Amino acid sequence: MAVYLRKSSRDVTSEITDILSSESIQNVLNLSQATKKHPCEYCGKLFKTNWERKRHTIIHTGERPFKCEICDFRCSLRHHLKSHLARHFLPTTQQ
Ligand SMILES: [Zn+2]
Ligand SMILES: [Zn+2]
Repeated sequence: MAVYLRKSSRDVTSEITDILSSESIQNVLNLSQATKKHPCEYCGKLFKTNWERKRHTIIHTGERPFKCEICDFRCSLRHHLKSHLARHFLPTTQQ
């Protein structure tokens, strides 16, 4: 457990390397990797939560669970449907 920093003022590069390889930094790096534990089964992209992964997976499956009740519009994300619905209720000025 001998942790020592080289104090040579010229050798800045190795000092930075020492800092980067220090235990605390490594722990932080490991931690940030460990929080992303949900890989996409299609592209391998990592997500922090299962929910995020599921939402992402939709872009591969093409699943569109949100349907507009006014027209035939379908989409994969709830907020897309919301912004679509807003169009029906907005005054039709712009097109
Ligand atoms: Zn993916
Ligand atoms: Zn619609």
